[in-house]
Amino acid sequence: MAETKYRRILRTPREIAKMRAAGLVVWEAHQAVARLMRPGVTTAELNQAVRQTFAKHGAEPLFLNYGGPPPFPAETCISINEELVHGIPGPRRVRQGDLVKIDTGCRLGGWCGDAAYTHAVGKVSEQAQRLCEATLGALHLAIKLMHSMTKWSQIAREMEAFVNDFGFHVVDSMVGHGIGKNLHEPPQVPNLFDPAWAAREDFDLRPGVVIAVEPMVNIGTHRLRELSDKWTQVSADRSLTAHFEHTIAITADGPRCLTGPPQGDELSQVSEPFRQPATWLTW
Ligand code: MG
Repeated sequence: MAETKYRRILRTPREIAKMRAAGLVVWEAHQAVARLMRPGVTTAELNQAVRQTFAKHGAEPLFLNYGGPPPFPAETCISINEELVHGIPGPRRVRQGDLVKIDTGCRLGGWCGDAAYTHAVGKVSEQAQRLCEATLGALHLAIKLMHSMTKWSQIAREMEAFVNDFGFHVVDSMVGHGIGKNLHEPPQVPNLFDPAWAAREDFDLRPGVVIAVEPMVNIGTHRLRELSDKWTQVSADRSLTAHFEHTIAITADGPRCLTGPPQGDELSQVSEPFRQPATWLTW
């Protein structure tokens, strides 16, 4: 990537602190959803928990009315089983054994945060468990490698190899992204090694880079299909899918997870019911 492009994507420590505040609200929204997640809950009820969390903190939902036509109609993308991303909440009830993917983001004080989590509801199949392990493992591997590797393409290559070792497939048509004042900013952040992309757009993990890292993995084919609602992306062979995401900043002290749990004084920034670490959903 050319030097001039870095000027546009690099954030100051002060800007990163603002993104952390937005990231904490996103974290809390995921906690609120986790408390409701059980067989019988509707996806509209889960979305309502996100909406209420954002409203409580005065945060602007980023997914509501995004894109289109038709614009996305909710604060949260909720995608079940073969649905990977961009599922629309509604009257559908979560069932025992489902993989429920929750993806949401908000803007607070002008800066954005974005994170996703795959919930295994009750007892899921062994393959579904392994799929979640592979996908979350790829995210954790990326964060770990961001301490030492200097090019994103190197990390993407490791993520891909990690997932392939499970016998699963990284989705290549959806990628992570830069994030800042807006939800989707440059650079693109692919989850596998693509030489054409690397030649054109590879970037250095230098302090100030803030990216949403979001591995998406299918048990079967890597290919996706869009449903007639013009949003929901399902695996083309209807195999199970998983998705985990955090917003990560590279700082002078290494990578910092901006959508991770509160630490130290940050506890006072989250609502009272979410101040007990023992009860936290972590990823
Ligand atoms: Mg994202």
